[in-house]
Amino acid sequence: MTEPIIELNNITVHFQNGSKAVDAVKNVNLSIDRGDVFGIVGYSGAGKSTIVRLINLLHQPSSGDIKVGSLQTVKNGQVLVKGKELRKLRQKIGMIFQHFNLLEQSTVLGNVVFALKHASLSKADRIAKAKKLIKQVGLADRIDNYPSQLSGGQKQRVAIARALANDPEILISDEATSALDPKTTKQILALLADLNRQTGVTIVLITHEMQVVKNIANHVAVMKDGEIIEQNSTFQIFADPQKPLTKEFIETASGNKEALEKILQQPAIQHLQADELLVELGFSGKSTDEPLISSLAKNYDVTVNILYGNIETIENASIGTLIVILSASAGKLSKALEAIRKEKIKLQIIKGAAQ
Ligand code: ADP
Repeated sequence: MTEPIIELNNITVHFQNGSKAVDAVKNVNLSIDRGDVFGIVGYSGAGKSTIVRLINLLHQPSSGDIKVGSLQTVKNGQVLVKGKELRKLRQKIGMIFQHFNLLEQSTVLGNVVFALKHASLSKADRIAKAKKLIKQVGLADRIDNYPSQLSGGQKQRVAIARALANDPEILISDEATSALDPKTTKQILALLADLNRQTGVTIVLITHEMQVVKNIANHVAVMKDGEIIEQNSTFQIFADPQKPLTKEFIETASGNKEALEKILQQPAIQHLQADELLVELGFSGKSTDEPLISSLAKNYDVTVNILYGNIETIENASIGTLIVILSASAGKLSKALEAIRKEKIKLQIIKGAAQ
C-alpha cells in the first residue's frame, strides 16, 4: 500500500522584489509516496529550491495546503506548526546540498556527532551511532580525517551520514551531485539508492539533470517557471515524454540529440539517395525484444543500415533508440513503415524523399 508522505495542494509562492512580483511556485500539486525516490527536475530559477523550503517550512507559501506524513503543516497558506513541533518536523527531514556545508574544523566523526546534539542519547551512544552511520556511507577508514583531507565524493558521504543522524523519514538532495564528476556522481547515487532500499527513507532529488534521476528515481516531476509541467513514473517520462522541455532534458541525458547532429553532418546523409530514408526508431518495454531489423529485411526486402543505437534500462524495463537508414523501393518502404508503426515503435522520419 502506498501512502503519501509529502502532499502539496494548490501551492503558490509569491515574492515581491521591490516593484517586481515573482510567482516562484504556481498552483503546484505534488504527492510523494513514502519510500519513493522522487526527482524534481528543472533549470535554475524553476522553483525547485522554493519547494524544498516549503517542505521543511523554511518558507511560508502565499496560498495552499501542505501535509508531511500525517501532520498538516500549512492550511490556506497559514503555517500551523511552530516551536517544538517545528523542530521535530525538521528532524524528520535530512538535507544534503551541492557544497556539502561541513564543519571544516571538525573531523568526519565530529561532523556527524554534531548533528546528534539534540538527540536524547548519552555521549557514548552518540559516538557509537555516528560511527555506525559513517560505516554505512563507506567512510569507516576516514573517521579522523578533516574535510580538507577528503575528496568531493567523500565529503558528500559525510554530509549524507550527518543528514541521516536523526533517523529522518525524508532525505532531500538539493543538487547534491552537481559539483561532482560523473563517476563520483554515480557512486553517490548508488549509495542513496542503497539507503532507500535498506531503510525505506523517502528521497527527494532536486536536480537540473535528467541523468541524475534516471537510474534511481521511480517518479519524476518537471518544473518550469514555478509550475510542474509534467509528472509521471520515470519509465513513462523517458518512454513517452509529452512536453518539449521534458524531451529536451531527456535528449540531453541520453546523448541521442548529439548523435543525430553528428550524423546529419555526414556527406552521405546530406545527399541521401532517392530510395533511402533516415529514421529514428524508439522502442520501449516489450518492443525492444522484437526482432524488428531482421523482420524488415526478410519480410519487406528493406536494407537497414544502423548509424547509432542506445538502450537504457529504467525501472527494470528497456528504452532504446536506433537511428538507421532504410533503403528499398518506394512501395516496399511504405509497407515497411506501416509495419513499424503497427509494432508500437515510435517512428520519426528525419530525412529522405522516399516514403
Ligand atoms: P531553483 O531552485 O529551481 O533554481 P528557486 O526556487 O531558487 O529556483 O527560485 C524560483 C524563483 O523565485 C526565481 O525566479 C528566484 O529568483 C525567485 N526567488 C527565490 N527566492 C526568492 C526570495 N527570497 N525573494 C525573491 N525572489 C526569490
